[in-house]
Amino acid sequence: MTHTSPQPDSPAPERFPVVVLGAGPAGLTVANALRAASVDCLVLETESRQFVEQRPRAGVLEEPVVRGLERRGLAGNLLRRAGRHTACEFRFDGAAHRLAYADLTGRHHFVYPQPLLVTDLIREYADVRGGTLRFEVRDVALHDTDTDHPSVSYVCPETGRRRLVHCDFVAGCDGARGVSRSVLTARHARIARHDYGIGWLALLAETPPSADCVLFGVHPGGFAGQMPRSPEVTRFYLQCPPGDDPENWPHERVWSELRRRLAAAGTPPLAEGKLLEKRVLDMHDYVVEPMAAGRLFLAGDAAHLTAPIAAKGMNLALHDAFLLGDALVAYLTAGDDSGLAGYSAACLRRVWDYQEFSQWLSDVYHGASSGDPYRAGTTLARLRRLFASPAAASAFVEQYLGTADHYGDPAGVRPAGSGGRARLSRARAGR
Ligand SMILES: Cc1cc2nc3c(=O)[nH]c(=O)nc-3n(C[C@H](O)[C@H](O)[C@H](O)COP(=O)(O)OP(=O)(O)OC[C@H]3O[C@@H](n4cnc5c(N)ncnc54)[C@H](O)[C@@H]3O)c2cc1C
Repeated sequence: MTHTSPQPDSPAPERFPVVVLGAGPAGLTVANALRAASVDCLVLETESRQFVEQRPRAGVLEEPVVRGLERRGLAGNLLRRAGRHTACEFRFDGAAHRLAYADLTGRHHFVYPQPLLVTDLIREYADVRGGTLRFEVRDVALHDTDTDHPSVSYVCPETGRRRLVHCDFVAGCDGARGVSRSVLTARHARIARHDYGIGWLALLAETPPSADCVLFGVHPGGFAGQMPRSPEVTRFYLQCPPGDDPENWPHERVWSELRRRLAAAGTPPLAEGKLLEKRVLDMHDYVVEPMAAGRLFLAGDAAHLTAPIAAKGMNLALHDAFLLGDALVAYLTAGDDSGLAGYSAACLRRVWDYQEFSQWLSDVYHGASSGDPYRAGTTLARLRRLFASPAAASAFVEQYLGTADHYGDPAGVRPAGSGGRARLSRARAGR
């Protein structure tokens, strides 16, 4: 919500150059970039530190994203501990078809569970770089983001009183359920939505993966996927009706469906284990365009949701955060507003490309179970082409790994001091 006249009941408003909403991968990466350049910022998070450090979600990271984290001094643990994936495997028609993408490209994926990355980023920001982070804040509201004196207010968990923070910029990194998106879409941006009309039962199981890579099971009974997370924990997905009740999926049914849909001649049986998480995701996407207005800049799931079809959500969040962090630093330390001016357009080029890829891959995953023999036939043709045509395989791998060079450098911003200074010239660090 935007209120033009906040009415805090707290006596002393604070001031930070940047307020970051959300301690997820996007917000924490922006905040770390700011602190590395000695720009003060305040991160506000509605959940507790323990909760965000344990929330299981993504795990597959593109190599360019890992290099982007490394350049910013944020990949130490990741590079020591992450698994490397060099292939993925499609299972269809009762056979396993391995796509060894590292052999084709020399590139690979990293596997590092999101809670570990978030834990690393919080520690670096708060404990090493001395950044300010407040957890469990309530009722966050944005004010005057169309002006050059925006502010954010929130209810303090300790006192129950509303606090006001003046700032130069707000980074809206508060995910799919945050408040910043609605400020943009109310007046400045349109939101484009896509509903796949299917559900995925997302499962986390206490069991080692049954293969050394991601498995995609394309089966007339519905899609199934296996995504290794660690030697002890594996994520699985099962296509289900949208809005299905997870209680319809007891242990026995889950494992018999996974075995059926991932079956392929000559492959080892799935290792069963205790189900640690079981929830239904209704598969949908959205894109907010543009991703910024006035002094409010969105990043990550706040700006665009990508159903976990192609494992792109966290990667996109980090690509955005690299651009936004660098652009804010360039402006606040050297008055260069070129990064901020081009931020939304630069992010959206990659966002729309990944949306298109997810849609393409969704057709591949779900065509066989659509009940439509025409869709089932074209799905099978796409799959066979991947393994018969090196050109088709290369095109797939480029998008799957996020390695196309037409997006440009994730740093994306010219060196501080090299660009325009005009439009935002009243806001500078420490003003
Ligand atoms: C089951 C599942 C599996 C996934 N698998 C993958 C995968 O393999 N690969 C991949 O790339 N992506 C995957 N994703 C997507 C990925 O997890 C998200 O895209 C990623 O977390 C986005 O990061 P973010 O920082 O934008 O948002 P978030 O991680 O959602 O962080 C936003 C933060 O803002 C906080 N917040 C909310 N409201 C407010 C408020 N009003 N004020 C302040 N803070 C607020 C939230 O508590 C949260 O901590 C998966 C998602 C799910 C659900």
